[in-house]
Parts: sequence; structure tokens; C-alpha cells
Amino acid sequence: MSYKNFPMVPRVVFGRGSFNQLQEIISPKRINTKAPFVFLVDDVFKGNAWLTSRIPLSYEDNIIYISANEEPKTSQVDELVEDIILNSREKPSGIIGIGGGTVLDLAKAVSIMLTNSGIASDYQGWDLVKNQAVYHVGIPTISGTGAEVSRTTVLTGPERKLGINSDFTPFDQVILDPELSKDVPKDQWFYTGMDCFIHCIESLNGTFLNAFSQSYGEKAFSLCKEVFVDNKLNTEESQDKLMMASWHGGMSIAYSQVGIAHALSYGLSYLLGTKHGIGNCIVFDQLEEFYPEGVKLFKEMKKIHNIELPNGVCSNLADEEFDIMIDVSLSLEPLWENALGKDWKKRITRDSIKALYKKM
Ligand code: NAD
Ligand code: ZN
Repeated sequence: MSYKNFPMVPRVVFGRGSFNQLQEIISPKRINTKAPFVFLVDDVFKGNAWLTSRIPLSYEDNIIYISANEEPKTSQVDELVEDIILNSREKPSGIIGIGGGTVLDLAKAVSIMLTNSGIASDYQGWDLVKNQAVYHVGIPTISGTGAEVSRTTVLTGPERKLGINSDFTPFDQVILDPELSKDVPKDQWFYTGMDCFIHCIESLNGTFLNAFSQSYGEKAFSLCKEVFVDNKLNTEESQDKLMMASWHGGMSIAYSQVGIAHALSYGLSYLLGTKHGIGNCIVFDQLEEFYPEGVKLFKEMKKIHNIELPNGVCSNLADEEFDIMIDVSLSLEPLWENALGKDWKKRITRDSIKALYKKM
């Protein structure tokens, strides 16, 4: 048995207003005046001077606004890299992602592709990246995915939705400023927050569980309950707590794995473009059989926050379309093995997966 030697984010700042320290943090990392810092910023902040006026631009630094309407694609990473190379005199000093999981994953992938040849889809998988990435900083503006702490960047490629999992993927620096999440719309707050809740349930109920994952998973789980059951509002205190829940949830799955909700949600996302947070919610709502207590609590939280999930998302699909989702989902073998154990293939069939999709 060989244990994972997991890289962690080496530097992290936490605190309301810590975003103001960005300049001080990145300045020493500037290679020279021709090597810019490139800021990838969620376009929800375009024209929002409260945030953008605090982005420290000098020399040839620039901001690229990114729409988070769709999840990151390998082709989008390739285009961004080309754009950055064509528009900078030298290789950037750093890539700084400011946004949710979408922008954070793009920042990680772009920083990798600036120092590795070929195209992003060449690196989807495990430990395929050869060279250290450009210095990259992650600044989450919504809490739940754990993308700020994870060793992966999830990309939809021409053939599959799969992460670039590597020791070079984690950020060199993270800034956790919960104040940045103050204006997240309520539904999105719930969906992305539930991503964290589901990470906890899948990690804590998985066969890969160990004391490392459990210690982080239990903390994240209790923080989620404080935020979504006890607090009931997006208060300052709950913004702080949810940001730390996301971090701990990410640390928990780093040393275990996610499970059935993620396996099925990847299928939805691949075929229908359903986004990760809401897709996980749509799937998890139907998984009583596998996660009875977690699903019960999920339904309670849905009620507390008046969340109406879309239904019938799979109602008009053809058999071939179900097959595509089932293939994507079944290809994620470690997720099934974590959820159901080594002989998972005996417990789940294509028909049973199809029956679950049909309920969504
Ligand atoms: P997101 O980044 O897609 O953003 C969701 C919405 O919230 C967008 O409309 C965005 O503009 C908006 N938003 C973000 N911050 C805001 C703010 N402060 N105020 C107002 N609106 C704001 O959402 P997400 O759920 O954080 O990320 C989902 C992505 O993360 C998916 O692509 C998924 O694959 C990825 N993911 C990655 C990992 C990982 O470990 N790398 C883990 C889980 C999910
Ligand atoms: Zn997730």
C-alpha cells in the first residue's frame, strides 16, 4: 500500500478585507516589468468598482473578464493561453483568479498550460503535467467547491469531463476574504454551498474514509449545518463559516473521494451543460437509497431556504442520450468504488442508473 503524498496550498490569508493585501503579496513575485500579472476575474464584477478598484495593476498587467455562465472547457483554456502569450512581451509573472470554481479552475489550468506544451486536453487525467506552472493565486468569491484548495481543475474536453489532477495544480497562494461573497444571489449561495455539503456526505460515507478525511469532513459538515440550518441567513458570520467549510470539505475529499452524486452530476453536466452546484442538488435529491440521512437533511435545508429545484430535466431525453450520461458516469470508477466498495459493479447497473436519471 502506498499512501498519497498530497501537496497543500503553501500560503493562505484569511480575513474580511484581506483582499486589500493582494498587492503586497504578489509584488515580490513579479519577474520583471515586461512579465505581467494577468487577473482572470468573473465578469459579474465588471463595473463593480468596490472590487475592481482594488485590483493592483502596474506596468503591463491586465484583467481578463470571464463569464461563469458555462463551466470551463479545454478549448477555452487554450484560447486564453494563446491570448495571454500574444499580448504579453514575456511569460506572465503570475495568474490571479478572482471568482467562483469556474474562474479558479481556469486560472489553475491556464497557469499550467503556460509552461507545458500541447493543449489542455492532453493533460486531463492523473499526473500528466511535466513542468511547474506559472505562479498562481486563487481568490474565491463564492464558497463551496473547494477548488481553492484542491489538486484538480475540472475541464470539459472534446471527449470527456475530467480534471487536470497534478502536484502542480494547487494554488501557490490563496486569499480567503469572506466579504467578497457578500452579494452572491441566494439560490447560487445554496447550490454552491450544497456542493460542500455533498462533498462531506460523500467523503464521510465512503469506503475510502480515513482519519485525515474524517477530521476535515466532520468539521465542514458541522459548519454547513451552522450555516444552512441554524443561521438561516447569509450573515457575515455565516460567510466566514461557509468559506472555511469549503476549505475543509476540499481537504476532506483530497484524501478520500467524492461519490455517487458527483458521478451522476458529471453525466448531466456533460450532456446538458448543467452546472456543478445545481446539478449536484438535482442528483442528490434522488439518492435517499445511498445516503439516507444526508438526503433527509438536504431536503430540510431546501425547505428552510425555499429552494425549488428544476424537475424533469431528463424527461425528453432519448435512449442514446441516457447512454451518454451513463457512460460518463460509469467511467468515474473511483467515485463508485468509494461509494459502494470494491464490488460496486454488482450493486449498480446501467438500468439502475437510468432509473435514477429518469427521476430527475
Ligand atoms: P461558478 O464559479 O460557476 O459561479 C456561479 C455563479 O455565481 C456565476 O454566475 C458567478 O458569476 C456568480 N458569482 C460568483 N461570485 C459571486 C459574487 N461574489 N457575487 C455575485 N455573484 C457571484 O460557481 P461555483 O459553484 O463556485 O463553481 C462551479 C465550478 O467549479 C464548476 O465548473 C465545477 O466543475 C468546479 N469545481 C471544481 C472543483 C475543484 O476541485 N477544482 C471542485 C468542485 C467544483
Ligand atoms: Zn463538487
